[in-house]
Formats: sequence, structure tokens, C-alpha cells
Amino acid sequence: MSITENLLRIKNELPKNVQLVAVSKTKPETDIMEAYKAGHKIFGENKVQELVDKHEHLPKEIEWHFIGHLQTNKVKYIAPFIHLIHGVDSLKLLKEINKQGAKNKRTINCLLQFHIANEKAKFGFYKDDAFELLQSAEFQSLKNVHVVGVMGMATYTDDDNLILKEFANLKSYFSEIKEKFITQDYFTEISMGMSADYKLAIKEGSTMVRLGSSIFGIRFYSKFN
Ligand SMILES: *Cc1c(COP(=O)(O)O)cnc(C)c1O
Repeated sequence: MSITENLLRIKNELPKNVQLVAVSKTKPETDIMEAYKAGHKIFGENKVQELVDKHEHLPKEIEWHFIGHLQTNKVKYIAPFIHLIHGVDSLKLLKEINKQGAKNKRTINCLLQFHIANEKAKFGFYKDDAFELLQSAEFQSLKNVHVVGVMGMATYTDDDNLILKEFANLKSYFSEIKEKFITQDYFTEISMGMSADYKLAIKEGSTMVRLGSSIFGIRFYSKFN
């Protein structure tokens, strides 16, 4: 199956309210252009340098999402153009994004990443820490960053019930935050679901799935990693 065929088949089966982020990390610009010509405009990358290069070379109409772990000292490189940063997991990072947003005279959209998996994941907030942050005056003073939703990754397992439970937890964090802390209309997104588990994520209320291999094929980590 070609990239175009994969993309059109997947888009066709996604519910209307679920956005597709085509995860193009490690893939060449020709692959992205194939998807772009098939009508897709939203792409996700997880390395800053690779993202900056691709942004420079590819059509400016593309909406770039950063889906990896973002180091504070690299925010400045993507701040001028990034559409959404999926994996924010510290106040320090939020403050830097706010600072770079102000410098670029824009408000940068972010998602808070939550630790929902069984595994010892390296990144993501635990609920209590995130809720404490959301209540802090310091968070509330950040004017050039909008937290527009939440993001999480489920355990890599073939136990569907476990995955469903983890996605349901993320959805419940979203609902609680919307009710108690971020009541603005822009708080709308639940980024959950990758190639292996996006159908389960949609069942539990995902609004944004991040799909790489099911569109572009398996990845080889030679060029950028
Ligand atoms: C690589 C990656 C994806 C896409 O993974 P696939 O299994 O290829 O769909 C989604 N989300 C994040 C955070 C990733 O790093």
C-alpha cells in the first residue's frame, strides 16, 4: 500500500471530530510531500533539528506538531512556527514556551502530557503534580501559552482492557481539568492513540490520533537518530 492509499483509508475511517497527526519522524521529505499532495496538512515530529529542517524546506501551509520530549534550551528554535506542542511535562518548560511565545508575539498551544501507562515511563505528569501546577499563580500568569488539552501514551501491550482503562483515565483527567482549572473554550483536545491502539483511543474519546507507521510504513532509525 502506498502512503496515499494508507492515508486516505485511515482518514475515511476516522470520526469527523478526530484529527489526524501524520507522524513523519525519520521519514524523508518526499514522503511528506506525497501525503501533502493527497490533501494532508498536519504532521508530527519528535526531534527539533529534523523538524526545523523540514519546516524550512516544505510548504508553509503545513501545520507542525511537536510530539517528542522537548528540551527547554531548544524551545526557541520551534517557537516561531510550531502549531502544537504535545508533550509538556514541567512548569519550567511551560515558562520557557511562554517566554519564547512572547518574543515571537504569539500564543503557543500546548498539551500537558500525563503518565498513564503501567510501565515506568520517563515522561509525563502524575495527576496530583499536574493539578498542583494548574492551581499555581505562576501557571495562571503565563499569557503566551495556552494549554489546549492533554496527551498520553498507553502501555505497549496486547491487553486491550488495560489500554482502554489507561485511555479512560486520561479522558477523566481532561474532564476534571476542564471543570476545575481551564474552563476556557480552547481547552478541547485529548491526544491519544498511535498506530497500534488508535481504535481503542477513539472509543475512549480521543480527539487527536498520532499515526506514523500505519501511514508511512515502518521506521528505520539511521538518518536522524
Ligand atoms: C512515534 C510516535 C507516534 C507514532 O507511532 P506509530 O506507532 O508509528 O504510529 C505517536 N506518538 C508519539 C509520541 C511518537 O513518538
